[in-house]
Amino acid sequence: MNHHHCTICELRCRLVPGQPGACGLYEWQNGNIVERYPDRFLVICPISIETMPMLHFRPGSKFLQITTTGCNFNCPGCISTTLVKAMSPDSKALHRRTADEVVAEAIRSDCEGIVFLMNDPLAAFPRFLRIAELAHHQGLEVGCSSNAYFTPESLSQLLPFLDFINIGMKGFTDAAYKACGAPSLRPVLRNLAALHGAGVHIEMSCILTRHNAAELLELARHMGRLSRCMPLQVMRFLPFENAGIDLEPSIREAEDFCLTARQSLDYVYLFNTPGSDSLHTRCPHCGHVILRREFYGPMGAKLKTPKQGLPVDNSCPACPHLLPIVGPPAAATYQEGDFEGGYPLTRAMEIVEAMLIAMGVTRRDVVVAAWEEILQDGGLKRLHQSIQRPRDYIATLRDFGRKAGVPERAETLAAYLEKQLARVADAWHRPNAAPGSTTPWASPVSTSTAAAWRISWWNWPAASASTGRWHRADGPATT
Ligand code: SF4
Ligand code: SF4
Repeated sequence: MNHHHCTICELRCRLVPGQPGACGLYEWQNGNIVERYPDRFLVICPISIETMPMLHFRPGSKFLQITTTGCNFNCPGCISTTLVKAMSPDSKALHRRTADEVVAEAIRSDCEGIVFLMNDPLAAFPRFLRIAELAHHQGLEVGCSSNAYFTPESLSQLLPFLDFINIGMKGFTDAAYKACGAPSLRPVLRNLAALHGAGVHIEMSCILTRHNAAELLELARHMGRLSRCMPLQVMRFLPFENAGIDLEPSIREAEDFCLTARQSLDYVYLFNTPGSDSLHTRCPHCGHVILRREFYGPMGAKLKTPKQGLPVDNSCPACPHLLPIVGPPAAATYQEGDFEGGYPLTRAMEIVEAMLIAMGVTRRDVVVAAWEEILQDGGLKRLHQSIQRPRDYIATLRDFGRKAGVPERAETLAAYLEKQLARVADAWHRPNAAPGSTTPWASPVSTSTAAAWRISWWNWPAASASTGRWHRADGPATT
């Protein structure tokens, strides 16, 4: 047979030799569906499970995040789609690991298990299946974030090895799914019922905009009919790329939505909303706050461990109610490094892209080349450190400008920033720059702290020069 209908996701693409399906990730070769880019991972690092985010499964525990590139969907603005379309399969930014090596790394890092997130496990399904199977044999737990567009065939293969899942809902209508390149909502509801029936721990997430509250309340009612205990993670929409700012609900609107959704569900959480207390877990019986969390980057949460520790049996300390949380919480909650793991990584990408845009560089291949450099070993940490101090930030700008082939534009931007910084430094050096002074830059910090601060940012050495590594030979790397 020289063609085959792919059974990994419900798009069921027709695969012929040399012609990948809609996701671009699988081919039909010698009677088998094969991955076009096997054993390559964009991210492999330990994270706390709240970063996934997953809120009712072993709170505070450490899991090994794995992320590849690409997706079977095509949601507007998704960074995963951008990466796979622009990044070469031989990109130096991708880590090469076999399934055995991934599992060994999870064990070596003292993780409770392995989670596939950020892009969809359906984009690397044979690999994820193998990792899940090996991980289970080693006593590790396995979870993923997914659009849940599994076929019955692929889901039945995965179910024996899947402990938990975060289903990212695109809405609750066919139209919402069509906007992401999928024909209908139906397969997701079918798979939700199958996952629930198989006893997999499920949390659902959705993006709340100004226009879809009614649709998402339908989703909450549907979930409530399966189980009032199924957590709903509401991601307050934040404008990205060219999305209209009028789509962003206010914090009050988003909190009101959560209140209404709680008529159907006991646990509704609000993300992307610093300062809101709607990320905490409250006892639905007496209202006592049992697990406190805070905002952690886009789509993420951080568990705040109380002095007395977390309740080991997940019971409410104020009443006899037992919370529907799987497993005991971690004895010591894990917290990953800056920009490492989960969606903070996408913030790092956005920072790099913003620097390039400010220099007039919008060509996708140049932006991706910059991302690739940041994603290589230690790059994220270096970026995080360099944006902490103005001197280093400017040096990084110059470095990116050289590599992107626009050193003059970088110099103009750097010179402008240096001028502004010099004005601030000058104000600090004035005798009346002490606390309470009338200078526009007066600060409430002590003069000794201010002096230390001046030394730390202003005297920091510039980054070493480099050549235009991202400047393609076939033309200027400009807009
Ligand atoms: S995984 Fe889905 S999108 Fe990709 S080839 Fe298979 S059916 Fe098509
Ligand atoms: S399903 Fe998720 S990973 Fe896939 S394109 Fe949509 S948002 Fe991106």
